[in-house]
Amino acid sequence: MSNNKISTFEAATRQFDAAAAIIGLTHNQVSMIKEPRKVIEAKLPVRMDDGRIEVFTGFRVQHNIARGPAKGGVRFHPDVTLDEVKALAFWMTFKCAVVNIPFGGGKGGVICDPSKLSYGELERLSRRYFAEMIDIFGPDRDVPAPDVGTNPEVMAWFMDTYSMHERKFVPAVVTGKPLEIGGSKGRTEATALGVVHTIREACAIVGLDLKKSTSAVQGFGNVGSNTARILREVGSKVVAISDISGAYYNEGGVDIEMALKHTAKNRTLEGFEKEGNVERLKDPHELLELNVDILVPAALEHQITQENANRIKARLIAEGANGPITNEADEILNKKGVFIIPDILCNAGGVTTSYLEWVQNKTGYYWSKERVEDEMKGIMLQAFGDVWETSKRYKVSMRVAAFIVAIERVARASGLRGLYA
Ligand code: NAD
Repeated sequence: MSNNKISTFEAATRQFDAAAAIIGLTHNQVSMIKEPRKVIEAKLPVRMDDGRIEVFTGFRVQHNIARGPAKGGVRFHPDVTLDEVKALAFWMTFKCAVVNIPFGGGKGGVICDPSKLSYGELERLSRRYFAEMIDIFGPDRDVPAPDVGTNPEVMAWFMDTYSMHERKFVPAVVTGKPLEIGGSKGRTEATALGVVHTIREACAIVGLDLKKSTSAVQGFGNVGSNTARILREVGSKVVAISDISGAYYNEGGVDIEMALKHTAKNRTLEGFEKEGNVERLKDPHELLELNVDILVPAALEHQITQENANRIKARLIAEGANGPITNEADEILNKKGVFIIPDILCNAGGVTTSYLEWVQNKTGYYWSKERVEDEMKGIMLQAFGDVWETSKRYKVSMRVAAFIVAIERVARASGLRGLYA
């Protein structure tokens, strides 16, 4: 639930409502594209290593499939709820539409703690989840990918389970696979690279020289660590990073390579202050309020709320995470004149590269990393331009503009297809 007691899905749809009102979407159009189309819940019995059978709960939500097969990750986490999965599926519909890739939106989840499962238990749970949903998934129906708590190995089990049922090799049923079985070069760092492409475009708009900028990155997982590394490479001084263990600060710039080595060895940044020439901030939330030019929340939902929004000093916020700013905080930040690159645009480099993986699987011809990165960059820059132009035309924030661009595309596709029966 979000902090103002409405559900995460409800909060997400308020962003839709604001944009839909501006473009005058009709009642029929709203009815066709706002709510999820299919919601599936399944019980997943799994034999544990000690012989016990444990029954997990799994979900798959297909929010909209007007523009193509549903697309979206599967989350393995103890706090997964159907409400959260519905919100994440909703964002996927509009994320795919904003970058104009031919997918709808979906998301899946299993209530479990993967860190407490053995390797064998994780494999059995992954296969059971996919087998229970086998009629839902398919390269032209619904194509999942990794999310929090799942990884390329889990995708390999998903793909193998589906392929065994089909009696043939079907790599396009899932993206984010290991390279050896049809994964794409460049997928791992794609989301972060996309985040930095959008930051570069936003800097040009707000008149910020990236090479002279300072930045702070919350979260040091796939998105956060790669974003910090790439920001450093393009000349921004990353003065603070954080993860679940705490936040670490150095006014002169954090040594990101050293932080990466630290997490490779210790999994988290715990103890980094002892070797990294950094100070550990007393309250990790201080990172969000530092006097930096660019802030990248790349960890969890609901990090910037009405409680701390007024204390944010960054001129530019790039939403690496999904939903890090609550609707109330969004309003406050907009009034302060902060330039926010909204999640459905900012972190779309990941799903865009998933699309490129799917294309490679379908054609059986595999591209160089340079080609993958070039294609992704082209798509991201086009999307940024579309959203920026829309923002100027309607005089609205980048978030509302991103929804306008996306909703128009989904509504048009839905209208063209019409209503069956
Ligand atoms: P991840 O699991 O690899 O990393 C999450 C990071 O957040 C970890 O470093 C963790 O320690 C940190 N974290 C957790 N709680 C924290 C807290 N309270 N304060 C600070 N840090 C905390 O996940 P990820 O793939 O990097 O995803 C991060 C966010 O980006 C999620 O919102 C995800 O939905 C979104 N996202 C990811 C991708 C992708 O391709 N991986 C694409 C689009 C959006």
